[in-house]
Amino acid sequence: MSHQNKKHDWTLVAHDGHDERHYGAVTMPIYQNSLFTFPSHDAFEAATDRFFDHYVYTRGNNPTVRHLEERLAALEGGEAARCFGSGMAAITAAIMSAVKSGDHVVCVDQVYGVTKRFLEQYLSGFGVESTFVDGTSLAALEEAIRPNTKLLYMESPTSMRFELQDLREWVAIAKRIGAKTIIDNTWATPCYQKPLLLGVDLSVHSISKYIGGHSDIVGGVVIGSKNELKAINGNEFTLFGGIMSPQNASLVLRGLRTLPLRMQQLQEHGLEVARFLQRQTFVAAVHHPGLDAHPQHELGKTQMSGGGSLFSIELKLPVEQVRVWADKLDYFRIGVSWGGYESLIIATRQSDEQKRNGTVLVRMYVGLEDPVELIGDMRRSFAAAGVETMV
Ligand SMILES: *Cc1c(COP(=O)(O)O)cnc(C)c1O
Repeated sequence: MSHQNKKHDWTLVAHDGHDERHYGAVTMPIYQNSLFTFPSHDAFEAATDRFFDHYVYTRGNNPTVRHLEERLAALEGGEAARCFGSGMAAITAAIMSAVKSGDHVVCVDQVYGVTKRFLEQYLSGFGVESTFVDGTSLAALEEAIRPNTKLLYMESPTSMRFELQDLREWVAIAKRIGAKTIIDNTWATPCYQKPLLLGVDLSVHSISKYIGGHSDIVGGVVIGSKNELKAINGNEFTLFGGIMSPQNASLVLRGLRTLPLRMQQLQEHGLEVARFLQRQTFVAAVHHPGLDAHPQHELGKTQMSGGGSLFSIELKLPVEQVRVWADKLDYFRIGVSWGGYESLIIATRQSDEQKRNGTVLVRMYVGLEDPVELIGDMRRSFAAAGVETMV
């Protein structure tokens, strides 16, 4: 929509630099080795003295993983990146790099549940307090700030309600108070949101979702400046050792080739299905930032150039009926995670607020199947559950 040349991303993933070590191979080989050897002790010492500039040991640098890190950094508009064994390994490393005992974190309240648990229940035990705020309210953010606030943690859009934070405003406030900013950018992907270009310090992704894109790996990445990543290398990366394996990096490299292509198609399918649901009288809300009806649709256009196909809906139906509907779907499988080729649905417990409102919140992930068939699948199962749909 605004500031980005999308085709540039297409070239970045399609074109790889190659060197003569790989005989002109068009894909990066898998360096399936734990250690690297040296012709002399002089060379060995020169390498170990500057461990992260050389290939010494795979819990450090591995050429296959390094190649992926360079590609992800370029795509996101960052100087450097580090891959991890999961999104949570990347997220916890990034957070730990920004705080110490006695510090305070302000985090968006609709953040990914496991991240919230890490801040609220785990880090609190090490003397780091967190306050969770409504991410749509800058007043709430200002109010939560304390003299010892050292980190503002964002996730835009958020995991279940797809609310946005105003990234430029959060960055401006962080700079004013001398705090760092981290964003979980998993939903928009490096193709559709480049937070580092808006001044965010670190961007983190669960690679297990869109970047991997084939439901066959779990991984994570932290992207930022050379200095930030150097500090993470020396501490959280080395000390916790949560690396991505070369085999997994190779699968991610393969998936990355089609990331812009997949995102373009997924975005289209997601919006088509979301718009069908929006037309139904028994759907109280569709939470998708790409829809005009989303309260922050205009803000989204100023900081994202597109979006994903994961969204949620609120159904004004009894929870039992929603379950019958969801269980009868053929194409939408019941399961966690998202970002692959297959459509998914989760329609579980109601919160107290939903019970009061008489609604059920359902998370939908629209995959690469034909959206007309996906909509047909929904109509069929709604009818089977006794719910009449409109065009
Ligand atoms: C899945 C997910 C994570 C966690 O990533 P893992 O790879 O499962 O550890 C973090 N943030 C968001 C938004 C996610 O969807």
